[in-house]
Amino acid sequence: MMQTLSSEHPVLIVNAGSSSLKVKLLPQALSLLVERIGGDVNIKTNFAELTAKGIDNHESAFKVCLEALAQELPLEKITAVGHRVVHGGERFSQPTLITTEVLASIAELSSLAPLHNPPNLEGIHAARSLLSGIPQVAVFDTAFHSSLPPQAYLYGLPRALYSQQGIRRYGFHGSSHDYVTRRAAEYLTRPREDLKLVSLHLGNGASAAAVSAGKSVDTSMGLTPVAGLLMGTRSGDVDPGILLHLLRSGMTVNELDTLLNKRSGLLGLSGISNDMRDIWQAAAEGNGHAREALEVFCYRIRKIIGEYAAAMGGLDAVIFTAGIGENDPEARALTLKGLEFLGLQLDPDKNNSREIEISKPESRVKILVIPTDEERMIAEATLQAMA
Ligand code: AMP
Repeated sequence: MMQTLSSEHPVLIVNAGSSSLKVKLLPQALSLLVERIGGDVNIKTNFAELTAKGIDNHESAFKVCLEALAQELPLEKITAVGHRVVHGGERFSQPTLITTEVLASIAELSSLAPLHNPPNLEGIHAARSLLSGIPQVAVFDTAFHSSLPPQAYLYGLPRALYSQQGIRRYGFHGSSHDYVTRRAAEYLTRPREDLKLVSLHLGNGASAAAVSAGKSVDTSMGLTPVAGLLMGTRSGDVDPGILLHLLRSGMTVNELDTLLNKRSGLLGLSGISNDMRDIWQAAAEGNGHAREALEVFCYRIRKIIGEYAAAMGGLDAVIFTAGIGENDPEARALTLKGLEFLGLQLDPDKNNSREIEISKPESRVKILVIPTDEERMIAEATLQAMA
C-alpha cells in the first residue's frame, strides 16, 4: 500500500555532494547541512547546537547528523531514506529501491557524472551502514526527463557515441520541474496531461524544461549540468569550437573544467559575483558588465520560452522557480520583455507581490511563480518507490 508522507511515516532525504552532506527529515522539517567535509567542517542545522570534530568523510558526517536527529525522535521511526542521485542514465526512469545491483549501476554511471555520482554513492553507503534495515531509495535528477524524444536528446555526433557511450542529452533538476509543473496544474485546476508548460528553474544552477501532456519533451541541460542557460558560475551553451580552441592554445582539461563550471556564467561575465542580488546592485550603480550579464541571462531564457513554445506547438503557462525565479521580479520582467506576441502579459503589480499568478487576467498564457520543493518531491517519490 502506498504510504503518504506524514509524521507517522517520516522520510529522511540525503543529498551528498563532493564535500558536503545535506540531510532533511520530512515532514518534521529537521535539517542539517555539513560543509567542507575533510577540512574545516561547518555544520548548520535548524534544531540543535552542534560542533564538529574529526569529520573526515561522509559516513562520519552522517553519524553526527543521526546523533542529533536521535535526540528528536527514535531513528527506527524513519520509514525510508531517499537519496538524491544526479545521474540515472537511461537505466533509471523511476525512483528505485536501492539494492547491490542498483548500487553497481549508479557506480557505472559515474563515467557520465564524475563530479556527482561518486559523492552520491558515498551518501548511500553511509546511510546503508548506519541505518541498516531501513529501505533506501534513489531518486534521480535525470528521471523526469527520461521521456525526451530522440529529436530532443540526440546530439549531431556519430551515432556510436550515443549507442556505445551513452552520449546524449539527459537533463537535470528533474524533481524540481516535475514538482512545479504538478503544482501549476493543480493551481490551474486542469490535468497536467492537458497542458503545455515551460518550467524555468533559475537558481545558482539554471535549467528550463518543456513539459507537454505531463511529460518532459525538452530541457536545456544536456549530458552534463553545464549546458543550456547562463548560470551563477557555469557557462551554459558555448560554441564547442571554443573548447577546441582553448585546448589547442594550451589550456589543460582540468583548467577548462574549472573555467566552464566555476568561473563562467554571471560571475565570469560580470567579474563581480555569481549572486544575482550583487549583479543588480552593481548594474544599478552603473557597472556595464553587470548590466550585460543580466541581459545575457534573461535573453537566453526569453529565447528558450519561444523555442519550447515552438517545440510543443503551443503554450499554456510559464513557471518561474528556485532562488532567482521565486525572488527576483526584475529578472522575471526583463526575461518576459517582448513576449506579449506569444500571449504572455505580465502584470507589473502582481510581479512585485508574492502572488502565484503574476500575469494579467486577460493573458492567454499564465505566468506563475511556484516555489520549488525538491526535498518534498524526493520524499514522495521515495514512498512511491516503496509501494
Ligand atoms: P538557489 O540555487 O535556488 O538557492 O538560488 C540561489 C540564487 O538565487 C542566488 O545565487 C541568488 O542569485 C538568487 N536569489 C536569491 N534571493 C534573491 C533575491 N531576493 N533577488 C534576486 N536573486 C535572488
